[in-house]
Amino acid sequence: MNKPKVLIAKKIPSYVEEYIGKYCDYENFYPEENQGKFLLEKLCDKEGFLQSGIKIDDELLKSAPNLKVVSNISVGYNNFDTDAMKKRNVIGTHTPGVLNDTVADLIFALILSAARKVPLLDSYVKGGKWDVMDHPSVFGKDVHHTTLGIIGMGRIGQDVAKRAMYGFDMEVLYYNRTRKYDAEKNLGVKYAEFDHVLANSDYILVMVPLNDETYHLIDEPQFNLMKKDAIFINASRGATVNEKALIKALTEGSILAAGLDVYEQEPLDKHNPLLKLSNVVLLPHIGSATEKTRCDMAMLAAENLVKALVGEVPPNIVPELK
Ligand code: NAP
Repeated sequence: MNKPKVLIAKKIPSYVEEYIGKYCDYENFYPEENQGKFLLEKLCDKEGFLQSGIKIDDELLKSAPNLKVVSNISVGYNNFDTDAMKKRNVIGTHTPGVLNDTVADLIFALILSAARKVPLLDSYVKGGKWDVMDHPSVFGKDVHHTTLGIIGMGRIGQDVAKRAMYGFDMEVLYYNRTRKYDAEKNLGVKYAEFDHVLANSDYILVMVPLNDETYHLIDEPQFNLMKKDAIFINASRGATVNEKALIKALTEGSILAAGLDVYEQEPLDKHNPLLKLSNVVLLPHIGSATEKTRCDMAMLAAENLVKALVGEVPPNIVPELK
């Protein structure tokens, strides 16, 4: 019997490829910028598509009439046009859970780096500049015994809360569209209205998925509510925040600093004003990028793909397509 045809559009470990190869005929193609046309050609006879971040819209689906499943190697799935996928009965899967701790660790790296000016100080030491160390301009802001506000108390938000409460004696306020009573009971996090969290937190983390409801959830009015010495962290998706409003807040001093892993446009444009600001720490969308977690994500995505193609229900269908 012919095996189902699959396109793999992201580099994955060889043992994950071998697993896919047991059940599927696969082809690798790693599209670069402006290679959309070639991608559509490659997809024309495929039933499965393993990738990360590629827009799955009507145009792509039209070019892939045999497609049964698109498997994301990520937990975020804002690249899926779920209405278009539903219309054509295409299953969409993602990789929740396996990356929670890794992303939560990175969020703490951002919090600590922004609070204690780690990148700036690193550049001073490497540049032979030691005599600034008693100068108040290099002094940071405490993280311990302060208040962290989390917007989006989901899987990753809760793992960040654990670190904040147990590791840093922080108080954690949160806002979520549904209340998380288990997290309140088990972790001791406190629910508050959106504006209250923004106005009363020393550190504010956005950890909601990007969708129509959360697009520019944090905009100029929200930055204006924050404390003047608040540190803002975004590791969700760039467009949950109006980047122009963030740049204004950082430039005009309506907040103290920021730590970012995600941007409205990725990769960052070389003229983006964020690149010139000293009060922001920038990472290249690297939240889940440890060797082990990236392998676990690739394996989970491969299992989702294979299950869908052998006629089983994959465990991680995205909620809108269940
Ligand atoms: P999750 O478990 O689904 O958590 C998201 C939380 O946001 C849920 O509790 C959800 O509430 C809440 N929410 C959704 N819409 C909201 C709204 N309009 N207002 C307030 N709360 C809202 O997802 P996760 O696994 O923690 O991941 C969160 C996001 O992080 C992903 O979607 C992805 O975009 C991003 N991410 C980024 C990286 C990175 O590398 N930087 C890595 C992993 C994930 P309900 O419970 O009511 O649905």
